[in-house]
Parts: sequence; C-alpha cells; structure tokens
Amino acid sequence: MIDILKNRIKQGYRTSKFPNEDPGLPDRFRGRPTLRPELCAAGCTACIDACPTRAIEHRDPPGKADGKNVPLALDLGRCLFCGECTTACPEGAVTFTKDHRLAANRREDLLVTTEEARLAESLNEEMRRLFGRSLKLRQVSAGGCGACEAELTALGNVVFDLGRFGIQFVASPRHADGLVITGPVTRNMREALRIAYEAVPSPRLVIAVGACGISGGPFIGSEDHLGGAASAVPVDLFIPGCPPHPVTILDGMLRLLGRLKEDRVRGA
Ligand code: SF4
Repeated sequence: MIDILKNRIKQGYRTSKFPNEDPGLPDRFRGRPTLRPELCAAGCTACIDACPTRAIEHRDPPGKADGKNVPLALDLGRCLFCGECTTACPEGAVTFTKDHRLAANRREDLLVTTEEARLAESLNEEMRRLFGRSLKLRQVSAGGCGACEAELTALGNVVFDLGRFGIQFVASPRHADGLVITGPVTRNMREALRIAYEAVPSPRLVIAVGACGISGGPFIGSEDHLGGAASAVPVDLFIPGCPPHPVTILDGMLRLLGRLKEDRVRGA
C-alpha cells in the first residue's frame, strides 16, 4: 500500500491540460494536411495514385484545365493519414501538420483545399441547454478494425478524463443522448444501427468517428458496407482519422457543446 501511494505521488497530476493548453502531440503525429498545389509538377498525379482511398483529387478551376499548377483537394473523410501521399510527392505539395482540429458538422466541410476551412460549430442554444453539461453517449461499432473503439476507450483514461467535461459512455441507447458510430456500417449492422438510433430518446445526436464511419475508409470499394454512418442515420458531427487521436475526438465533442469557440482554420 505504501509503495502504491509513493508511486502515485511520484507520478503527479497526469491529466492533460487540454483544451486550456496545447495538447503537446508528438512530432510524428499527422494532423490536418496542408496543400501547396503551386509546387505540383505539370501533369503529376503521384499523390493521387498513391492514396489508397482516393482521398486526393485535382480540381481544375473552370477554364483553366491546363494540367499546370492544378489546385488539389483532400477529403478528410476518406483520408487514412497514412502519409503515402507525402512519400510519393518529391515536391512537398502535400504535408501533414500537427493540428489536431479536424471535426466538422457537414460532410462537405471535410474537404481540405487552400481555402479557409470551417470547423465544427456548436449546437443551438436549446440543445446546449440539454446536453452542454451532461452528455451520455452509446457507442455502436458498425464494422471496422476496432482501433477507433480503442481510441474512444482511451478517452476515459486519466490523461484525457472525458468525464471531467460531463461526457460519459453508457451501456444502453435508451439511457443515451446520442450515438457514437464507428465502422463503415456493414450490411449486417444496418438494422442493428437503426434500432439503436430509434432507441435513443429524441432529440438525439449522432457522431461518426473515423474514416470508416464517415466514408467507408479503407473498405471503400467493398459492396458489403453502406459507406459510413450518414448513409443510415443523420449525422451531427464527423470526426476524421484512422483512427482519430483522442484529442481530435475530444476537440470535436467540445466544439459541438460550445466549449471551444474558434470555428475556422486557415488554408495553406
Ligand atoms: S477508421 Fe481506421 S482505425 Fe477506425 S475502424 Fe476504420 S480502419 Fe479501423
């Protein structure tokens, strides 16, 4: 017992100061990508060809489809953050920053370009009044590999301590204010997801976590899934990643609850 107490004192206070301080993510962390299409060699499609989920595309502005300095767009909802695009591009047109802020309310806001991007916005006043101080969530694993669930579980550890924000995972959708959905929604899970959704009392929230939950992720192209949560139920918050870091998940949830204010992130 004495040893346990000594160890505990030695460890000190371990809970992250996030969101009041920078989360201090390591250099190897891959967060929000930045695009510099002006570095693209004419006609080069190396990053596009390297992407396993076709998350990157060239976008020719109207009347300027000359294959030179073509603007790029990267869909965070498909991105696996594998870094294959950065390896494939010798010019450095695609790079990953340490910015953990990735969540958005609308699917189209997950498209990264050189323009300013819109981050997740807060719920309306009535919903914040209902959920702002106490949010109970039921997790539904609708396929996937299990890593997103592992990161959601990590939110409950002493470092992230989700409970300090009044957010908790509960065992039954009937006791929940919303669902957190991971996985691409396999055909076998469609009905189970619908039943879980209907069991949550209205008004309810739906949070889609991970590339699978947003688009099908690495399973894009398979006929055995629906291509993400939004194909089965309405989604209020999309949290990209494969899997998303707990800080990215927490950031998205806190934005939804109106605890984080800035709602724009600058483009490249
Ligand atoms: S998004 Fe990636 S980490 Fe999450 S379940 Fe799918 S494959 Fe696994």
